[in-house]
Amino acid sequence: MNQYAVFGHPVAHSRSPWIHARFAAQFGFEQSYQAIDVPPETFEQILWDFGEAGGLGANVTLPLKEQAATLCDELSEAAQRARAVNTLIRLPGLRWRGDNTDGIGLVADFQRLGIELVGRRIVILGAGGATRGILGPLLAQGPREIVIANRTPERALQLALESGALGTVQAWALDELQALEAADVLVNATSAWRGEGMALAFGLVDAGTIAYDLSYGATAQPFLAQARQAGTAEVHDGLGMLVEQAAESFRHWRGVRPQTAPVLAELRTLVGH
Ligand code: NAP
Repeated sequence: MNQYAVFGHPVAHSRSPWIHARFAAQFGFEQSYQAIDVPPETFEQILWDFGEAGGLGANVTLPLKEQAATLCDELSEAAQRARAVNTLIRLPGLRWRGDNTDGIGLVADFQRLGIELVGRRIVILGAGGATRGILGPLLAQGPREIVIANRTPERALQLALESGALGTVQAWALDELQALEAADVLVNATSAWRGEGMALAFGLVDAGTIAYDLSYGATAQPFLAQARQAGTAEVHDGLGMLVEQAAESFRHWRGVRPQTAPVLAELRTLVGH
């Protein structure tokens, strides 16, 4: 049976095995897709063992995405730009190609939601692995400006410099955001808003702002609730992105793209909100 997996630490919470089972069922494919908890220090060995045992592909989640990029023999342009890999594709001879489908997944979800990015002003909170993955694909949509705001401003600046579009991409410190005008699209790509202590800079949101949290379900709610209180009428969590990035991984492995809408609708009933 074709073997796939998601590697992370922890990984028990991952919805990927459920999503990929639904995708495989659409085509009548038989496959195994396991969640494998991998402490970073054992990742290289476990990936080798997985390949030797016939593993054909894997997803990679926190905190292994950057390490995964260093273990690949080839990287897609998106993975090179992100220096982070969320999809491993088996090559002949126990070699791996790495891709990053987070950005294409987010853009696909924006399209599903009818969110237009051309000429818009995007503010991204956070400059971690997720922002690395989404920055290039968001830039490719032709926004007027992308502001990256991070607690550690040097990381935001680094990303702005690496983007090759300094000026269109700007770096700010998270605690200076009160000086900014309202965003058209505000993306929370931090792992910070978990209910305690974080406050959305006043003025960053107005009635026209669309707020999107990359996390989903209950985890996304504190940030989205603050955005609603600040006046935005449109908020979304990252469940659609999760399903879309998974569909891109599936397409790499199987050569066909599954339908995402029925899987997202069913997953929404499980996750809630
Ligand atoms: P990460 O690499 O660990 O980065 C975390 C970011 O959060 C950094 O910018 C960090 O700032 C910031 N941060 C953490 N705690 C903070 C605090 N107390 N105050 C202010 N800033 C804080 O994580 P990631 O991989 O980028 O993931 C970010 C989020 O995106 C997670 O919730 C993840 O689940 C989600 N995600 C969702 C999908 C999807 O498919 N829906 C895909 C990828 C990621 P510093 O740089 O200052 O430390």
